[in-house]
Amino acid sequence: MSVKTFPLTKARLEELADQYPTPFYIYDEEAIRQNVMAMRRAFSIFPSYKEHFAVKALPNPFILKILAGLGLGADCSSYAELLLAKMAGITGEDIMFSSNETPEREYRLADELGAVINLDDFTHIEFLERCLGRIPALISCRYNPGPLKEGNAIIGKPEEAKYGFTGEQIIRGFALLRDKGARRFALHTMVASNELSLDYHVQTARMLFELAVEIREKTGVRVEWVNLGGGVGIPYRPDQEALSWDALAAGIRAAYDDIIVPAGLDPLGIHTEYGRPITGPYGWLVARALHRKRIYREYIGLDASMADLMRPALYGAYHHISIPGKEDAPLTEMYDVVGSLCENNDKFAVQRRLPWIETAAETGRGDFVVIHDAGAHGRAMGFNYNGKLRCGELLLRPDGSVIRIRRSETEDDYFATLDARALQEFHSEGDEYVAP
Ligand SMILES: *Cc1c(COP(=O)(O)O)cnc(C)c1O
Repeated sequence: MSVKTFPLTKARLEELADQYPTPFYIYDEEAIRQNVMAMRRAFSIFPSYKEHFAVKALPNPFILKILAGLGLGADCSSYAELLLAKMAGITGEDIMFSSNETPEREYRLADELGAVINLDDFTHIEFLERCLGRIPALISCRYNPGPLKEGNAIIGKPEEAKYGFTGEQIIRGFALLRDKGARRFALHTMVASNELSLDYHVQTARMLFELAVEIREKTGVRVEWVNLGGGVGIPYRPDQEALSWDALAAGIRAAYDDIIVPAGLDPLGIHTEYGRPITGPYGWLVARALHRKRIYREYIGLDASMADLMRPALYGAYHHISIPGKEDAPLTEMYDVVGSLCENNDKFAVQRRLPWIETAAETGRGDFVVIHDAGAHGRAMGFNYNGKLRCGELLLRPDGSVIRIRRSETEDDYFATLDARALQEFHSEGDEYVAP
């Protein structure tokens, strides 16, 4: 069981909404801090440990600054994500650049920032050398185990995934990188997404440890650290159990003692790129119920849409919903809770048991509808389809105050990529159009 809580009362939300109209995301800084500290304590059983927060999960530099202050680095995979890390004061080897199909200018920026470049393919060894005029002294390679490892629902089977080197390529790759001047090496993999099984993650570590030993035997290259990637799940459903940091670290440590220590590779660093389990449970999308509609089913229409939170529409993902002020009310209704896109999969919940919800159309203000576990891969996946503007982000500080860390988009943002002058000068031929 995981308990679904929300840190603000309905009265406080009403006050906030006067200043920052719904919808908005809100993140709980203190809860994120406690979580990160628990993670770091758990992983302190390794000779060295570094977590590079996956920026794509929550690409807000205010959040990144909090995480950097707690000793975390960043995992980036694009030009803008590298700039976000830099904005938050994260530089050098604290940045992992785990990209794929990488454009030249992204490798150049990663190199300028001193980031650890994590190659996704054998052919990128030469490509990187051409981009930079050399191979960096420190380099990482991403492993794809193919049929050796079972996948999971979101990321798919490794042998069908586009990422990483094969086992044979990675051995040749490290030898080639050494011959081209690399001196320090790291090994990376990322084979699952939103996986709650402890055993799965321990097996992944075991697999990387065995590969580190094999690389040493076959090439003489000693990797300095392994990066286990992300993929640790969170309990989106109340009947699911969170993975404990202590159990996870202890499981990985047992594999380390089994494989790394006897092979003489101790000390080996452990790195991770967790995103979802760092901030996911500590962010909420707060919307308001606008309309009630009764046809073949009963619908509650919100002022948020899948443009604000895509996971339910994209993966059929469950996100818990609660109604502030009605935490203990009986679940008498059966609703589809929907957004306003002209897309029928724009539904936050389908046939969900909920308390009676008041709508703004009926009562003026309407109930707040809080969508839980939206602190990772939430707003970040937002988009502008249908002319929908993405909502802003608020931060609940440890002292109870609330600050805005990103404003909502306006129509000006939506039109910012259009050239108004060019549009004015542009004349459609209309009726006079003659085919060339
Ligand atoms: C998405 C991603 C992560 C983070 O995954 P989470 O599921 O958010 O922990 C880490 N590393 C890589 C390479 C990724 O693509």
